[in-house]
Amino acid sequence: MTNELYDVVVVGGGPAGATAASDLAKAGHKVMLLDRAGRIKPCGGAVPPRLLEDFDIPHSLLVAKARSARMIAPSGRKVDMPVGEIGFVGMVDRDVFDEWLRQRAANDGAVRCTGSFETIERDGQGTHVCFRTSRGGELEKVRAKLVIGAEGARSKVARQNIDGAEDMKCVFAYHEVIESPPANNRGFDPARCDVFYQGKLSPDFYAWIFPHGHTSSIGLGSANKGFPLRATVSDMRDELGLDACKTIRKEGAPIPLKPLKRWDNGKDVLVAGDAAGVVAPASGEGIYYAMTCGRIAAEAASEFVVSGNPTALKGARKRFMKEHGRVFWILGMMQFFWYSSDKRRERFVDMCDDADVQQLTWQAYMNKRLVRAKPLAHLKIFLKDTAHLLGLRPMAR
Ligand SMILES: Cc1cc2nc3c(=O)[nH]c(=O)nc-3n(C[C@H](O)[C@H](O)[C@H](O)COP(=O)(O)OP(=O)(O)OC[C@H]3O[C@@H](n4cnc5c(N)ncnc54)[C@H](O)[C@@H]3O)c2cc1C
Repeated sequence: MTNELYDVVVVGGGPAGATAASDLAKAGHKVMLLDRAGRIKPCGGAVPPRLLEDFDIPHSLLVAKARSARMIAPSGRKVDMPVGEIGFVGMVDRDVFDEWLRQRAANDGAVRCTGSFETIERDGQGTHVCFRTSRGGELEKVRAKLVIGAEGARSKVARQNIDGAEDMKCVFAYHEVIESPPANNRGFDPARCDVFYQGKLSPDFYAWIFPHGHTSSIGLGSANKGFPLRATVSDMRDELGLDACKTIRKEGAPIPLKPLKRWDNGKDVLVAGDAAGVVAPASGEGIYYAMTCGRIAAEAASEFVVSGNPTALKGARKRFMKEHGRVFWILGMMQFFWYSSDKRRERFVDMCDDADVQQLTWQAYMNKRLVRAKPLAHLKIFLKDTAHLLGLRPMAR
């Protein structure tokens, strides 16, 4: 493969990289998709219906559909948020889902290569992507007009080439994949996501149980480095009667908290997905945004390859932030305010017990845009929100 010239080498075959590789290959570019195999991405696997529509994903890849979320407050108060007729929360198993995306990229014309990215070298011949196809094996090289770095939150491509990437702030998330208990066993519902807003389970994020058919993901996130993630999941399982369920995997990974300020190096590198920091604050939702970012990166890459003009690369971040920046900002404020103490978490869960809040939340989740259809409902929520913020509204019991 040495010295072969690609228009684009995409590093990382997760949702962002595989989507970028598919789109670029479909647009007629010569693309290599380089992915280090062998590790299933630790992930709750919850995706909105809009992802299936936008990226032509068959429903057969869903292992479960959740029809409601149950928010659990520090006091133990539980608020059910049924999705209603407007949709569902889809659940994917990342081993199957990611491989399907990579295979689709290959079917679309991308050259798939299993190997681990090491570094980028530049000389008179151009830009060389260096990687190893086996541990300790020889360094292999291919040439590329552009490299898209999509290898997740700890992206080497980003750290080596993008200013500020080394300092990316993250929540660390840990989960255990367990065999699902029978339905109704100790309150387990295979069609419901449980979300725990309790400082003892996470001082700054949340804990969850997401049902995946035969298996379930039980986990939590925190940016607090000293927080005992494993011990807390273990306590959670004991408390919820899930300790007897067989453990299939225990794993964790960082979740970025904020998009990077720059996504390109003004020359031959662009980053996408977690590598660019695009995970929704407050929810930690990253799969849909990674794929959207991969698609936008592919468009910018295509413009760059055709024109040779590196300013085309800047368009990726601009376009993404124009579409999703406002939602990210609002979710960031929400996380900052509502996840900061048990008193506030209690009020937050209390607020979720409101039909308008539930409807707008689900519509925003399903459609990935702020809903403007009901201005009066927004006003009502704003007033309630303000009353909660000021502590003027008594909490329901
Ligand atoms: C515990 C946990 C739970 C989560 N739950 C959810 C959820 O329920 N819903 C949701 O939407 N999001 C969730 N997220 C976030 C979501 O998983 C990520 O935002 C999403 O996977 C980002 O996709 P990506 O393609 O950018 O990166 P990744 O999915 O991380 O993919 C990166 C790819 O790069 C490859 N790679 C890494 N290093 C190299 C290298 N050196 N060379 C070659 N290849 C390499 C990896 O093998 C991988 O295939 C969760 C995250 C965590 C950690």
